[in-house]
Amino acid sequence: MPNMSLKKNEMPSQEPEVRNKNFDEVALGYTQEQAKDEAERCLNCKNKPCVNGCPVQINIPAFISLVKEGDIEAAYKEISKASSLPAVCGRVCPQENQCEKYCVRGIKGEPVAIGRLERFVADWHLSQESNEVVKAEKNGHRVAVVGSGPSGLACAGELAKKGYAVTVFEALHLAGGVLVYGIPEFRLPKDIVRKEIETLKALDVDIQTNVVIGKSISIDELFEQGYEAVFIGSGAGLPRFMGIKGENLKGVYSANEFLTRVNLMKAYRESSATPIQKAKRVAVVGGGNVAMDAARCAKRLGADEVYIVYRRSEQELPARKEEVEHAKEEGIIFKLLTNPVEILPDENRFVGGMRCVEMELGEADESGRRRPIVKKDSEFVLDVDCVIMSIGTSPNPLIKDTTDGLDTQSWGGIIADDNGLTSREGVYAGGDAVTGAATVILAMGAGKKAAESIHNYLKE
Ligand SMILES: Cc1cc2nc3c(=O)[nH]c(=O)nc-3n(C[C@H](O)[C@H](O)[C@H](O)COP(=O)(O)OP(=O)(O)OC[C@H]3O[C@@H](n4cnc5c(N)ncnc54)[C@H](O)[C@@H]3O)c2cc1C
Repeated sequence: MPNMSLKKNEMPSQEPEVRNKNFDEVALGYTQEQAKDEAERCLNCKNKPCVNGCPVQINIPAFISLVKEGDIEAAYKEISKASSLPAVCGRVCPQENQCEKYCVRGIKGEPVAIGRLERFVADWHLSQESNEVVKAEKNGHRVAVVGSGPSGLACAGELAKKGYAVTVFEALHLAGGVLVYGIPEFRLPKDIVRKEIETLKALDVDIQTNVVIGKSISIDELFEQGYEAVFIGSGAGLPRFMGIKGENLKGVYSANEFLTRVNLMKAYRESSATPIQKAKRVAVVGGGNVAMDAARCAKRLGADEVYIVYRRSEQELPARKEEVEHAKEEGIIFKLLTNPVEILPDENRFVGGMRCVEMELGEADESGRRRPIVKKDSEFVLDVDCVIMSIGTSPNPLIKDTTDGLDTQSWGGIIADDNGLTSREGVYAGGDAVTGAATVILAMGAGKKAAESIHNYLKE
C-alpha cells in the first residue's frame, strides 16, 4: 500500500540564522527511514512520465522501487546506468521543472521527492568503504575532452565505459567546472564533487589540469598528437557587465570572479592566498541562481546588509523559487524594480555607493516578460561598499579564435547539431559552450549524446 501523504518528507536542514554564518551544507539529507517512507509515495506508474522529464532518462521508478526494498547499492547501479554524477544532480538539478514536474503525485499534492531520493542513494554509495569499478577493455582509440565541467565529465565517463582512452584538459587547477568554482560549498560540498570525479578516474579517465586549450596547446595540435576526436565542453564563463560608469572601481566584481575566489580559492579562510575584501553592505545586481549564490556567500563572509538589485518584479525573478526562499530566510534584502545607473567612488576609488533608478513594468518584450521602464524622478543612492555583477555570461572566444573551421553564433556559442557535431569533422561540443548558461543535467545530457556520436564516428 503506497504512502498517500500529500506532502514530501521534509528535508532536514540547518536553521537559517545558523547557516548564514557558515559554509557547511544547508540541506542535510534523508535518513534511510525517511528515504524509504518517501519512496513509498511512488506509485510506480506504468507509463513513467517522470523519466521523460529527466534529460538523461534515469529509470526513476526502478531505482525508487529498490530504495523501497532497502537495496540501496542496486538503486545506485540503476541510476548510474544513466548518470555519472548522481550526488551532484540530486543536489542541484531543478527537479521542479524536470522529473518532479511530471510526477503523477504532483497533480494532487506534492510530487515524490525524486531529487532527494537520488541524493540519498548516491551519498549512501559514496559512504561505502569499497566501491568496485568495472573497467572496459581498451579499444585502441584516443579522444580529447576540453573542460572538466559536467558536459566534459559526462562525455569522458561514457567514452571510458566503451573502452576509449580519454584525456580531459582543464584550464583551472581543479577539475569540476562550475561545480567547483561556481556553486558554493553550502549547496554542493566540494568533497562530493571530488568523490564523483574519483569514480571517473577509476575508469581510467586521465584529467590534466592547468592546460588552457587555445593557449597551452591548440585543437589542431591535439589531432597531430594522435587524438582522433575532440569534445569541447568549455562552458560559458565570460562575465557580462552593464557598461555603466564606475564598474572598474575596486570592490566591483563579476559574480564569477567573486564565487571563484570564495569557492575555489577558499577566500573565506584567513589563510587563503587570495583573500577577498570583506564588505559590510553588498549589492548583487541580477536575479538568477548565480546572483542568489553570490548574495548568500557575501552574507556568510560577514556582510551586515546584502541586497539583490533586480530590474523586474518578484514574479520575473529567474532564480529557482527554492533558492529565492533560502536567500530570504538568510536575511538577503530584495530591492526589486530597481536598476543601477552608476557606481560611485569613495575617496580611495573603492565603491562608495550605487546610484539607482526605480523601474515599472510595461508591455511584454520579445522574451515574453514585461519590459522594465525607468520611473520618472526616482533616482536614489544605495549605500553599499561592494557591488557584484551577476547579469549573465557567455562562452570565452579563445577556442573559437584558435580553431579553424569552427562555426559559432554571434554571441559566441559553438554551433553543434543535435548529436553534438560541430562544423569541423571530428570536433564535437556540448553544454554551456553551445547553449549559453543552462543547467548541470542539460550539460551532462549533451556530453552523453556527444559520446555516443563520437563512438559512432570512430567505430566505423
Ligand atoms: C554560480 C552558479 C550556480 C549554478 N547553479 C546551478 C544549479 O543549482 N543547478 C544547475 O543545474 N545548474 C546550475 N548552474 C549552471 C551549471 O553549473 C552549468 O550549466 C554547467 O556547469 C555547465 O556545464 P559545462 O560542462 O557546459 O561547463 P562548465 O561547468 O562551465 O565547465 C567548463 C570547464 O571548461 C574549462 N575551460 C574553459 N575554457 C577552457 C580551455 N580553453 N581549455 C581548457 N579548459 C577550459 C573551465 O575552466 C571549466 O572548468 C550554475 C552556474 C553557476 C555559475
